[in-house]
Amino acid sequence: MNIPKSHPRYKSLLNREKVVEALDRGILAKAGLIAHGRGETFDYLIGEKTTDIALRAIKAAAAMLVLAENPVISVNGNTVALARDEVVKLAEELNGKIEVNLFYRSEERLRKIKEFFEEDPVIREKIRSGKIKILGVEDGNKQIPNLESARGKVSQEGIYSADVVLVPLEDGDRTEALVKMGKKVISIDLNPLSRTAQRSTVTIVDELTRCLPLLRKYVREYKRLDREELQRIVEGFDNRENLRDMLNHICNRLRNLQFI
Ligand code: ATP
Ligand code: MG
Repeated sequence: MNIPKSHPRYKSLLNREKVVEALDRGILAKAGLIAHGRGETFDYLIGEKTTDIALRAIKAAAAMLVLAENPVISVNGNTVALARDEVVKLAEELNGKIEVNLFYRSEERLRKIKEFFEEDPVIREKIRSGKIKILGVEDGNKQIPNLESARGKVSQEGIYSADVVLVPLEDGDRTEALVKMGKKVISIDLNPLSRTAQRSTVTIVDELTRCLPLLRKYVREYKRLDREELQRIVEGFDNRENLRDMLNHICNRLRNLQFI
């Protein structure tokens, strides 16, 4: 479909197109469409902008990623459909590790997602030269404890040994299981009420494609800071307080909204 750029919902419609295309290509599970719709609803309530509240979480997440010994970006169908190239760029600023980790796991979808990365010549070259690693496809042979087997399969080099895991659009159970393993979990989730949002160490309540470039910008910037400064940024962040602020933001917006 050709969406005119002047359309007030241009970006939202473009994202929908990407998600539908990913479904057609077998990258996305059908339930991924529903997850996307839930995200859109919350984005409407938030105001479809990165709030100052989300920015605080983005900064804490960036500091945490720069401090990490072994960070990993966990991706699913929705994430690669919407933000494949941005994920690669962020991984490059870190240690290059991206792991495919699916809720509705199937060997075929794992393979198709890996192929989706590889089909881009620039990304393929980065994989070949070792700048980027796509984990979890052939090497998903470790098990996250307390998670029914297929959903808990992860790579030793990736999520299993990571100290910080960035999980855009994750589900609550897995977030909780990763936290129980002693990992710091950074999630990106437009729903401040989801279990993922509440269980994560840092929750960025913002739209994925809007916040990833900002997260990358702060990661770059923070590489220049010393560890103590970074630690201060992380310790000065309170996730519960941030989620509460986000809910208040939504409530205030709804209270003050005027109909068009
Ligand atoms: P939980 O188990 O954490 O309570 P859930 O697993 O039931 O939540 P899902 O619908 O499976 O929730 O997960 C998708 C989550 O991702 C939703 O909370 C949705 O708001 C969020 N989401 C969807 N699309 C985006 C997006 N583009 N950017 C940010 N968040 C999104
Ligand atoms: Mg869930």
